[in-house]
Amino acid sequence: MRKHWIFLGLCISLLLLRVEEAPANLAADGAAQIPAETNYVALTFDDGPRRGTTDRLLEGLKERGASATFFLVGEEAERYPELVRRMQAEGHQVGNHTWSHVRLEGASTAVIQEEVGKTEELLETLLGGSGYWLRPPYGLITPGTEKLVRVPMVKWSVDPRDWENKNTDKVVQAILKHVKPNSIILLHDIYDTSVDAALKVVDTLEAQGYCFVTVEELLCLNGVTPEAGELYRTGTGTT
Ligand SMILES: [Zn+2]
Repeated sequence: MRKHWIFLGLCISLLLLRVEEAPANLAADGAAQIPAETNYVALTFDDGPRRGTTDRLLEGLKERGASATFFLVGEEAERYPELVRRMQAEGHQVGNHTWSHVRLEGASTAVIQEEVGKTEELLETLLGGSGYWLRPPYGLITPGTEKLVRVPMVKWSVDPRDWENKNTDKVVQAILKHVKPNSIILLHDIYDTSVDAALKVVDTLEAQGYCFVTVEELLCLNGVTPEAGELYRTGTGTT
């Protein structure tokens, strides 16, 4: 229990910026408060950035005081560096989704290193820092090759198949049916229907007391120390 509170304290500093932007969470004296009963959940977006959809999503998340995690395709990030910088500036987590969206399962060591390394280098150049977390395309990597990946990897626990169901209401319903505290939700910010669905889900779940945080914050809130080469499916770990 004590450990839980130590981690919670560390995570509060990560969360403070957004909490300050959310009037409902401010006490009369202006002190940030995180209610004990708050449930946390992470929205993740793959395959972007894309002009017209990603910027609309960023605007909507900002209005709602919600954070998310974006796993970027390197060649798209290179086309839209201003969107990548905006993600970081607005408190979102930026991650790596390979340079050209290759399937890492069955790929050679050289391809894995090239596809992951080139995107990492671009993100370092655009944003500073290093060690950008990886979501392997399709969530797949050949067992045994994880040791080539020097960062934590992120899968998901809720998949509304938004790339197939390009219907906002269907995507919203698929998420709401399966979401629970500490879920990691998979979406793609390259479809208008997915952007609309994400913002509806934020409105619905915030009204139920959920708070939208990055994957890094979600793991931290659960006392999970992210490790290189591990694949995380929920906020409480790998299972
Ligand atoms: Zn993808």
